[in-house]
Amino acid sequence: MKIQRQKKLKRRLDFFKNNFGFSAPYSLIVDGTFCFAALSHKVSIKEQIPKILEDNVKILTTPCIVTEVEKMGPALYGAFTIVKQFAHHQCGHTVPVNGAKCVRSMVKGGNKSKYAVATQDQSLRTQLRTMPGVPILYLHNSAPTLEKPPEVSTDRADRWDADRVGLSKEQRKTITSLKRSILGESEPVKRRKKKVVKGANPLSRRRRKERESGEQQAEDGGEAERRSRRRRRRVKLAAHVKEELARRRQMGEQAV
Ligand SMILES: [Zn+2]
Repeated sequence: MKIQRQKKLKRRLDFFKNNFGFSAPYSLIVDGTFCFAALSHKVSIKEQIPKILEDNVKILTTPCIVTEVEKMGPALYGAFTIVKQFAHHQCGHTVPVNGAKCVRSMVKGGNKSKYAVATQDQSLRTQLRTMPGVPILYLHNSAPTLEKPPEVSTDRADRWDADRVGLSKEQRKTITSLKRSILGESEPVKRRKKKVVKGANPLSRRRRKERESGEQQAEDGGEAERRSRRRRRRVKLAAHVKEELARRRQMGEQAV
């Protein structure tokens, strides 16, 4: 399960790397809602967030976000102590705006600075999904998760793909279906399974074989036995006979 989750995260991060030019070190903007949720679920942002961003991430916030959380008072004091420790990235707002507006202003216009955003704010997430090329992080219970790239991002990537190869996704689909209708559906090659001999276990089979060969022997009137006896009855030549034979062979060769 954990491996599958990691694969999914990698696939989603790869999407932004391959299509929107993201690369380590990543810049992640965290807001007050994310810090609040992290505290509630006992998640250490500094320790656990880098794990899903190739252990190479700069965690940032903005003066507007810090001011907003501070204004919330004692209820968000814990979140305030967390959020204020991250680097305050200058957002350019001389008069602080609310956190969501500040985040939107930083990623609008194609997210040129390649920020990822960590937030639990549902309405902000919905708004970010309409902006192409913005990776969104959130806590699923206590598990830091990278949201599935929204349609606006995948559509943009498809358009770029189409420009590169001169075909859109739809056109590729049409070509595939045309190929199928002309060439026919390519049947998957079925592999024959090796036949496995089932039945009695091999040891009992061996015993039966032996038993059968014993019976055969009795029927043959001991033919096999005679053959083996013949093999045993090999004539051994005495040493002096062997010498004589060797001498004669030598003499024969010399005569030739
Ligand atoms: Zn701001």
